[in-house]
Amino acid sequence: MKTIDFTALARQNIRSLTAYEAKEIPCRIKLDANESPVAPVISLDPKVLSRLNRYPDPQGSALKKTLAREHGVMPDQLLLGNGSDEIISYLITTFGGPVLYPVPTFSMYGITAQTLGEPGIGIPLQSDMQLDQRKMVAAIRKLAPKLIFLSTPNNPTGNAFQREAIEEIIRISGGIVVVDEAYQPFSREKSFIPDIKRFPRLAVLRTFSKIGLAALRLGYLVADSGLITEVNKVRLPYNVNALSQALVLASLRQKNETRAVVKEIVSEREKMAKELRGMPGIDVVPSDANFILLRMPNADAVHAALIAAGILVRNLGSAVPNALRVTIGTPKENAAFLAALRKIMKERS
Ligand SMILES: *Cc1c(COP(=O)(O)O)cnc(C)c1O
Repeated sequence: MKTIDFTALARQNIRSLTAYEAKEIPCRIKLDANESPVAPVISLDPKVLSRLNRYPDPQGSALKKTLAREHGVMPDQLLLGNGSDEIISYLITTFGGPVLYPVPTFSMYGITAQTLGEPGIGIPLQSDMQLDQRKMVAAIRKLAPKLIFLSTPNNPTGNAFQREAIEEIIRISGGIVVVDEAYQPFSREKSFIPDIKRFPRLAVLRTFSKIGLAALRLGYLVADSGLITEVNKVRLPYNVNALSQALVLASLRQKNETRAVVKEIVSEREKMAKELRGMPGIDVVPSDANFILLRMPNADAVHAALIAAGILVRNLGSAVPNALRVTIGTPKENAAFLAALRKIMKERS
C-alpha cells in the first residue's frame, strides 16, 4: 500500500509543529509536572452517576455560582474550560493575534498561537527573570498585540512579575491582557482578580491543576462580562464534563484541606530554597510557585543522574539551557531529592 504524506495534507502552520511532549518517564518520585503531591479525598455525589446518560450542564452554573461568590464577581464574569489550556485556545480563537508573551514562559501560548495560524511574539525576560519592561512597552506600541499573556508567578521561572510593570502593560495595551494565575495560590503577591473592575481589558486565568485536581482538567477565566460573552461564542458546548464539575464543586466545600496542603507546599518550598542556595554550583531563582528553577552547568547530566536515582524533575532543554525545574513534593520526596542532588553535585565537583 502506498503511504500517504499526511504532513503535506496538514495546514501550512501545522506542518512544522511537533506534538506537545508530555514525556512519561516512570520514576519513583515524580517532581516534573508541578502537580500537587497530595490527592484530595473527595466523595462524588451518587446523583451524578445516575445521570451519565445525560449531557452535563453546558454552563456549569452551580460551579460558576460558587466560584463567583469566592472571588467576589458575578457568574457572568466566569467561563469554565477543560483545563486552562482550552481557555488559552479559546482566547486566541476569539481575539486572534499578534499574541505577545515574555520568554521563557508557559509554552502553550506560543504553541496555540501557531496552531491557530496567529503570530506569536516572545520578548526575552531580563537575567533576573523579571519583565524587560522597555522591550515589552516598545513591542506593544509597535505591534499592537491583540493578546498579551503574562504568567505570574511565571512558569518555568517561578518568580512573580512586578505588579507595577503588569499594570503599565494593561494601561498602554489596546488588546486583552491575560494574567495567568495558575500558581497564584502559592504566591506572596495579591491576585489580579479584584483589578478587573478597574481594568476591563484584564482577564485572569485560574486552574485547579496545580492545587490537587490535575486529573479533572478544570480551568476558568475571570473577566468583564462583555469579554466572557465573546469567548463563549467559540466555546464548544459541554466542554466541561459532569464528573469534573461535580468533583470540583465537592472540593470547594472542603477548602480548608486544600489550603492546608498549599500552606505546607509553600513552607516546604522555603525550606528547599534555603537548602539549595547552600549548594555550590547551583543558582536558585526565587520562587512564588510550587516549583523552583535551578540553574547549573551540565543540567542534562544532573537530570539523567537524578532519573537513575529514581527522581524525575523537568529538564527545560533549549527553552532554558542548563536549568532544571523541580516541583515541591511531600517532605519525604523533597528530602530524597535534596539528598540525591547533593550526592550528584559532590561527585561532579
Ligand atoms: C500548568 C499551567 C497551565 C495549564 O493548566 P491546565 O488547567 O492544567 O490546562 C496554565 N498556565 C500555566 C502558567 C501553567 O503552568
